[in-house]
Amino acid sequence: MKLTIVGCAGSYTNATSAGSCYLLEFDGYSLLLDLGSGALGALAKSTNIANVDAVALSHVHLDHCADVAGLYVTRRYDPTGMAAKIPFFGPPQIAARMDEMYGLTDQDDSSMTTVFDFVEYDGSVHQAGPFTIATVAVDHCIPAFAIKVSAGGRSLVYSGDTSACQSLVELSTGADLALYEASYVESGDNPRGMHMTGAQAGRVATQAGIDRLVLTHLVAWNDDAEVQSDAATSFSGDLVMAQPGMTITV
Ligand SMILES: [Zn+2]
Ligand SMILES: [Zn+2]
Repeated sequence: MKLTIVGCAGSYTNATSAGSCYLLEFDGYSLLLDLGSGALGALAKSTNIANVDAVALSHVHLDHCADVAGLYVTRRYDPTGMAAKIPFFGPPQIAARMDEMYGLTDQDDSSMTTVFDFVEYDGSVHQAGPFTIATVAVDHCIPAFAIKVSAGGRSLVYSGDTSACQSLVELSTGADLALYEASYVESGDNPRGMHMTGAQAGRVATQAGIDRLVLTHLVAWNDDAEVQSDAATSFSGDLVMAQPGMTITV
């Protein structure tokens, strides 16, 4: 699998990065994990956005889903005709939440259901082209999911937004790469049940036996070097700080 970091800004966009968005490509198929604020334009630098084959959202905070609105417009109002539906995986109520974001309802002939085939996470394993998608509920302030994507005998776990939790350890065990959020620094006064520090992300990765950890959802009011050094206290494998446009072979 080829992973492209499209956007890795945590919580709000900044001068150098869009909100959360990760492109996974395998065998000619493209899957997006999250499509946060500002990410559609950044995505266009890496791929033809018309070629997106499926979307999976971790949760419906706007730094993870705002640019679904733009992807919807490109498919619904394509001057050459409405694009075919693509699978769109997300938390319970995902279809209604996406329509609400755009001021639509499912009774509206412009509903996002016209271009997205919404599938709610229900604990089962889903298939999108060559990708197998497994999810677990994680610990955030709204329903949020970590996502494990497998293809070609390789796998990646994306934490979405979460505090350090056992379900993330369990989903990650055996994965080839962990893409974890690190929104906080150890020196901060951090709320519980929201996000991880680099040290907490590193600890989860170590518990899961992960060799390669990419830290993302980097918040502009933190010093990335501090996040990285926090993580190095609890993780001794290959540690990478996400950057927009970075590509990684999983
Ligand atoms: Zn977020
Ligand atoms: Zn969030």
